[in-house]
Amino acid sequence: MTKTRQFRLIDPELIGGTEQVPRLIGSVCAGCGTVTFPRQRSCPRCTSEDVQPRELAIRGELWSWTIQCFAPKAPPYLPGGVEEFEPYGVGYVELPGEVRVEARLTESDPERLRIGMSMELTLIPVPGASDTLTFAFRPVEEDE
Ligand SMILES: [Zn+2]
Repeated sequence: MTKTRQFRLIDPELIGGTEQVPRLIGSVCAGCGTVTFPRQRSCPRCTSEDVQPRELAIRGELWSWTIQCFAPKAPPYLPGGVEEFEPYGVGYVELPGEVRVEARLTESDPERLRIGMSMELTLIPVPGASDTLTFAFRPVEEDE
């Protein structure tokens, strides 16, 4: 299969890996092991500046979530206008032993979201900029 569309990532400092298997890039402190996302220049726990980039786990558990039901301010958001807004899920995903990441969720139906469910990193088009991808988490099916 040939790819005809070219995507770009919203920020290569945030997202590494490949389009098929993206990885979030956080940082880890050499002194105390604290992991952050996005990456930071110094450790928020011990203030060490000896922090290195780290590719984070792609799966975690949904720690908390909500559904964003009202449109953000436009402009600057929603270049197509507020009528293009659709409610979406947003939540914190706890990556085991690493860090909680705040992210868009691919699921916006509250009946299909529950705290503790398995989630996996994926990429979605940025609203209003369909050639640009950003990160999100999707629910993992039981048999995956
Ligand atoms: Zn530290």
